[in-house]
Amino acid sequence: MKNRLNTVMLSNSDDDIKYAAELIKNGEVVGMPTETVYGLAADATNPEAVKKIFEAKGRPSDNPLIVHICDASMMEEIACEIPKLAYKSAERFWPGPLTMVLPKRIIIPKVTSGGLETVGVRLPSDETARKLISYSGKPIAAPSANLSGSPSPTTAAYVYADMNGRIPAIIDGGSCNVGVESTVISFENDAIRLLRPGYVSVEMLSEVTENIIIDKGVLEQLALTAKVSSPGMKYKHYSPKAEIYIIKGNLSDFEKYVSENLKDDDAVMIFDCDELSLDVKTIMYGRNSEQQAKRLFSALRECDEIGADRVFARCPSTEGVGLAVYNRLLRAAAFRVIEV
Ligand code: AMP
Ligand code: MG
Repeated sequence: MKNRLNTVMLSNSDDDIKYAAELIKNGEVVGMPTETVYGLAADATNPEAVKKIFEAKGRPSDNPLIVHICDASMMEEIACEIPKLAYKSAERFWPGPLTMVLPKRIIIPKVTSGGLETVGVRLPSDETARKLISYSGKPIAAPSANLSGSPSPTTAAYVYADMNGRIPAIIDGGSCNVGVESTVISFENDAIRLLRPGYVSVEMLSEVTENIIIDKGVLEQLALTAKVSSPGMKYKHYSPKAEIYIIKGNLSDFEKYVSENLKDDDAVMIFDCDELSLDVKTIMYGRNSEQQAKRLFSALRECDEIGADRVFARCPSTEGVGLAVYNRLLRAAAFRVIEV
């Protein structure tokens, strides 16, 4: 980082959102709440502003940014050749946590799209995010507001922890309702390709078409050199400093495995309905998939707050939004899965 900035915390009052919109119009980067996770917002059409996002995050330049709009009609200003299935998906899931990858118009510079000819478009449901887009009068590029590689931030305080000194302002909109990033899809003929699972689940997408392809990168580790449909999938992601191990099995087998392998400074991550007889530092994430989605990233940040070396995590269900939870945990664990 060149110059350290004084990072101010703003409220989500109209006056503060208007102040943040002025910063965006002036080519600055602002921490923005959304229903998924906090984003680092800048004018998606201004290459200099977008470069500041990449700098603040330390994000590889080939990892594209999602562009946020405040009205479905803005989609046609930034994307073209929009298939019927995209309109149908927008109608069903927008405003909400669904990103659609579409051919981009020239107004979106290559720095925003990570060099691709496509752009990821999303209309968020969070009111503060929509006001910020509307007041700035620009489509807004916004990746998750964490340092590249770290867990995504679900509160303004987590954004501050990663971005203090790197951006001029953060809007505090409370904790995010969904807690994991948006579902990312692209379109192929009459099919939807799932590039990244999120709150809009495969089960929900099947309301618009039965034809759903789950991309290989959702559940498999991709080589850094691989040509992938969603560049974010090949990078180290969501990782605390602690080493996470996913343990697949029932509660008693989990407990047996942990008790046989436990060292000082190890911890466990369990569902909040589990009852362990072990004496071990414990981090909870919710009992069902929705709660787990909401808690996952703060649970991962807690691993470091308690100074854990290794964390044994119970394997979540992959049903519904559970697929998104598992997909993020798998990356946080660098694909270390142990079947017991
Ligand atoms: P983040 O903003 O940190 O949630 O990351 C956004 C992710 O969305 C990227 O890492 C990509 O994997 C995916 N994405 C965004 N735009 C595109 C695009 N044009 N084509 C394919 N994937 C995209
Ligand atoms: Mg991210």
